[in-house]
Amino acid sequence: MPELPEVEIVRQSLNKKIKQKKVKKVLVRNRNLRFKIPFNFNSYFQNKTIVKVGRFSKYLIIYLPQENYCLIHLGMSGTIHIVSNTTINKRTNTSFYNSPFLPKKHNHVELIFDNFKIIYNDPRRFGFFQLIKNNINLKKRFNYLGPEPFDQNFNLTYVFNYFKDKNKDIKSFLLDQKFVSGIGNIYASEILFLCKINPFKKARSLSKKNCKKIIISSKKILLKAIKKGGSSIRDFKDTSGLKGGFQNEFKVYQQEGKKCKNFGCSNLIKKKITSNRSTFFCDSCQK
Ligand SMILES: [Zn+2]
Repeated sequence: MPELPEVEIVRQSLNKKIKQKKVKKVLVRNRNLRFKIPFNFNSYFQNKTIVKVGRFSKYLIIYLPQENYCLIHLGMSGTIHIVSNTTINKRTNTSFYNSPFLPKKHNHVELIFDNFKIIYNDPRRFGFFQLIKNNINLKKRFNYLGPEPFDQNFNLTYVFNYFKDKNKDIKSFLLDQKFVSGIGNIYASEILFLCKINPFKKARSLSKKNCKKIIISSKKILLKAIKKGGSSIRDFKDTSGLKGGFQNEFKVYQQEGKKCKNFGCSNLIKKKITSNRSTFFCDSCQK
């Protein structure tokens, strides 16, 4: 499932390509996603100039004129492809997830511009499009979400007070979008490894020092992932498949049984499954 860094990379690629460009035509090939694509979707985009592409948490926001917005959530398997009319055999995927090239099946939506088109592909159909009118409704839409890790509101006072009387473990909070938005299962494990904090430690038992570490490491891990992911896309020249980006940098995620990467530690990385989610950690380094 794409997390904040992947969505940010898609945003950057899309923004670069479609900002200030006019949509010539819209094709909806299959309306069935998590929510049905609305019937006014075509007229919403047709002949409109894209103001810019923004993002909040794991949501892409396409800004259209007169405070019209379109949210895109990639769900479990959604990818956005940029397909040129002139160049063939070029990487189309704006994300480092899934196939670098446009798949033949499950292409739901096409936004057609002058010399290229944007195609939304989603085999598992958990993604969705949502049309939102005016700025107030856009803000309301994200009301229930906590700050992003980069937000200045994600600070020591906020985190420490939030944890004060909480019995749940720290990993659950990193995944809880009401507490902090944009972190998923992959980065939660990586962040706690960097902090040297055990994922199953109760939130209320975390010291101020621990909370500070969590704040700093969250920013660090996500920024690094954005940087690596972005560079893996720019540098992508190989047509045999894609294995780049932050996947190669994982220190604990899907590394169970491998030696801990901390200097001087010879412990093996463990995997523990709780409520259907895997957590990866070193029980010697993470206390
Ligand atoms: Zn270790």
